[in-house]
Amino acid sequence: MKSLRSLIRQSSLLLMAGLLLVFSVLTYIGGDALLHRFVDGRLLALAETLAKIVEQYPNIIERSGEDGARTAELNRSKKEQYELQDVTHSLRVFSPDGRVVWNAPKALAQQPVPDHVFKQVRQGVPVFETSETTDGSPVRHVFISIPRQGQMQYVLQAETSLLLYQETRNGLVLLLALGSGVILLVAWVGSGWLAKQVLTPIEVLSTGAETMSEADLGKRFTLDSPYQEFRRLTQAFNSVMDRFQRSGEIQRRFCDIAAHEMKTPLTILQGNLDVALMKARTSEEYREALINNLEQVGRLIALTRSLLTLANFTSGKPPVHLVPLALEPMIQDLVDELTLLADDRRITLSFESQSAPPILGDAQWLKQALINLLDNALHYTPSGGAVTVRLQAVGEGVAVAVEDTGHGIEPEHLPHLFERFYRTDWARAKDAGGTGLGLPIVKEIAEAHGGSISVTSQVDKGSVFTLRLPAISRQTIPA
Ligand code: ADP
Repeated sequence: MKSLRSLIRQSSLLLMAGLLLVFSVLTYIGGDALLHRFVDGRLLALAETLAKIVEQYPNIIERSGEDGARTAELNRSKKEQYELQDVTHSLRVFSPDGRVVWNAPKALAQQPVPDHVFKQVRQGVPVFETSETTDGSPVRHVFISIPRQGQMQYVLQAETSLLLYQETRNGLVLLLALGSGVILLVAWVGSGWLAKQVLTPIEVLSTGAETMSEADLGKRFTLDSPYQEFRRLTQAFNSVMDRFQRSGEIQRRFCDIAAHEMKTPLTILQGNLDVALMKARTSEEYREALINNLEQVGRLIALTRSLLTLANFTSGKPPVHLVPLALEPMIQDLVDELTLLADDRRITLSFESQSAPPILGDAQWLKQALINLLDNALHYTPSGGAVTVRLQAVGEGVAVAVEDTGHGIEPEHLPHLFERFYRTDWARAKDAGGTGLGLPIVKEIAEAHGGSISVTSQVDKGSVFTLRLPAISRQTIPA
């Protein structure tokens, strides 16, 4: 597995080496070009000065030879003499036909001049050439014409050694190499420091997370880092811990309540069995005890079924299979099925439907949600009351409202109705049959369809539970 530390160090070193290489190559090319320009410019200036002197005093050439040149020097200005000293040892003068007419004895290059040079010089263009002396030293030449009355009289060749240029260039290379080495060393050390700054807080968090046990869920990390990114990371880490702790507490509470809810029917069951077995009973008495127990078993089964349903919905992917669905016939069937029960309780059950668009839904689960709502409405509405189901299009979806004229719910209970095992005191006092899981299941089903459930209620007037589902066209299918 790769380590981030070596990635940071290698990347910064490679990046720096790349940048230095580009910088060094550009500096070398630019420096070399400037040096060349400098050498050539100086050589040309000297050649032109000398050419002017020869042009003005042609007898220097005519006297020929080193002595002649030296005699002529005596009559020059100081500056001219200085320049002449500098160049006469590296000077040759040719006639237009290529014959050497003046040759400084110390001239470095003695080889003949190629024809093309004369051709170009004749056109008035100075020609630069580089060659080597017999001992291998590089020499730079310039050839220029010395005119007389508009005609080329002589060709002047001035030369200068390139040894100094070579030394300067080698010095530049050495300087670049040394500078690059030092910068790379600094980059290596600096990237180590940077890696330490970046990774230490991460290591602290990792070690903390690795050594954390369930008992430490209440602990929070404090990171002494001046950088906002690490503070954010610590905050994010701590908020994950918050969520873990909260969900752990919810889980524990849920288990406590579930165990408590199961304990009640189990205790009743045990009590009934104890009483039945205390002495010999008639078959009628045994029958009565069994019927009593059957009721408690039924309650336990209902509770277990609801718990399993909730567990299904909360374990990652909700168990819904969404298909295009028209709600109206489904609700009509359901109302028809429950009419007998409503009649039995002398409650008027009716269905009012406006045209509503189809939805993407799971008929089985939506039916379950409506059964839970209708079951509550019929349960908490006294005889002579009415329960009405209304289907209508609302905005970009549909709304199914289950309305009753029952006892109603006190406002303080409304925010908690969809919590697991929540039951109002009034409902608890009324009967021990409920589980407090019907509405949480409705909420899970609604959310699995991308919808919602809400409630409004007035004490002694009744309640309205409204299930909202998005219409098929704009539906976002839950993953
Ligand atoms: P259960 O009905 O099994 O107790 P639910 O989750 O379905 O559980 O309902 C939770 C509580 O909400 C009920 O105990 C009751 O107090 C209240 N409730 C639900 N529906 C109605 C209603 N139509 N009228 C009055 N109270 C209701």
